[in-house]
Amino acid sequence: MAGILFIISAPSGSGKSTLVNQLRSDVRGLDFSISYTTREPRGSEQEGREYHYIDRATFERMQQANEFLESADVYGNLYGTARHSLTDAMNHGHDLLLDIDVQGAAQVRREMPDSVNIFVMPPNPEVLATRLRNRSRAEGSISEEVIQRRLAKARVEIENYDEYGYILVNDVLDHAVEELEAIVASERFHRGQPSWSAGAGDINRLLAVAERCRRSHAMDRVIPVLTAFGVTEPARTR
Ligand code: ADP
Ligand code: 5GP
Repeated sequence: MAGILFIISAPSGSGKSTLVNQLRSDVRGLDFSISYTTREPRGSEQEGREYHYIDRATFERMQQANEFLESADVYGNLYGTARHSLTDAMNHGHDLLLDIDVQGAAQVRREMPDSVNIFVMPPNPEVLATRLRNRSRAEGSISEEVIQRRLAKARVEIENYDEYGYILVNDVLDHAVEELEAIVASERFHRGQPSWSAGAGDINRLLAVAERCRRSHAMDRVIPVLTAFGVTEPARTR
């Protein structure tokens, strides 16, 4: 792939969709892969905008036909990234953003080791629970059982943070948006992409912001999150 493949993963409720939507409206030349899923549309979601909603039989047929770059079972529903998302972005000379879970990200990294991997963390379990509850309320239904299940899963997902090159802690939204956009700009700059278009003053600031999000430089912000979720820091990042 000529363009850059960006992968973003996060525990549900961390604010990943909010960040990605902002990125999509602010950054040009970045396509977003619309995944296929067997789950039902939520709230105001629309076919072909957030997802392609298909039944399990159709999903399994696509899997057998090798139409997915990756696929995974997340919370009991199937999700997959169509291979054509990559070829479409490539044909347009665009970068591509995949919003996928930690299992799917691991599959894509094996096939595309040049991909840029970004993990978004909530500041702590209490904030995550509040965001999950607020979102459920806004969508008209709160299932405390679903929220507890997602909180438990969040801890397991956070254990995979050290597979990702960049880490964002989504505390203040504007800061996290700026960091995400800086990572895109920095990767484009380092790879000599013509789509890069900031002034000289801007680029130095953006490069510095992106550097602070590299996992090795972000640990002072990451360790309190790991502690709050009860995740032990792996030896290689100490
Ligand atoms: P995800 O895509 O990770 O599941 P969402 O983007 O749907 O999460 O965000 C979950 C909820 O948290 C939404 O109600 C969203 O408006 C809110 N939210 C996202 N980021 C922040 C933030 N930095 N501060 C406060 N609320 C946030
Ligand atoms: P939601 O149903 O809340 O939109 O997403 C649930 C989880 O599925 C999120 O972690 C999201 O990143 C992940 N997801 C969405 N699309 C895909 C996909 O195509 N592949 C994989 N592996 N995960 C996905």
